[in-house]
Amino acid sequence: MAEDETIRAFARKLWNGQRSNDQTFATQVDGYLETIPVELQGMPYCRVCESVLCGVCGRCHEDTKQFVFIGPRCPVAVPNTERPGCLAWSYAYQFLSQARRTSDLTDRKHKEESE
Ligand SMILES: [Zn+2]
Ligand SMILES: [Zn+2]
Repeated sequence: MAEDETIRAFARKLWNGQRSNDQTFATQVDGYLETIPVELQGMPYCRVCESVLCGVCGRCHEDTKQFVFIGPRCPVAVPNTERPGCLAWSYAYQFLSQARRTSDLTDRKHKEESE
């Protein structure tokens, strides 16, 4: 879908602006940016804090929160050190959801303007 590609491209741009010098990590994030569904709907989430669960281990989710450094820690959260891909996945997820939100806002604005 064309819209999905636009969002994915925007997510890549956001990520490139904050790209890590750690090559291994950066390559992992690149990979996840291509595979996480842009729709972000129907993804498994934590029933307690409603954060999306990590796509690598399916358990950790401290880093998928919209505001990583704000808010209470989830009481059932699992540290994201279990597998090497966890943090990279969470990064990719963050950039995609940020791109998605930005695109939703733009869509709404266009709609309001054309009505
Ligand atoms: Zn949780
Ligand atoms: Zn994980």
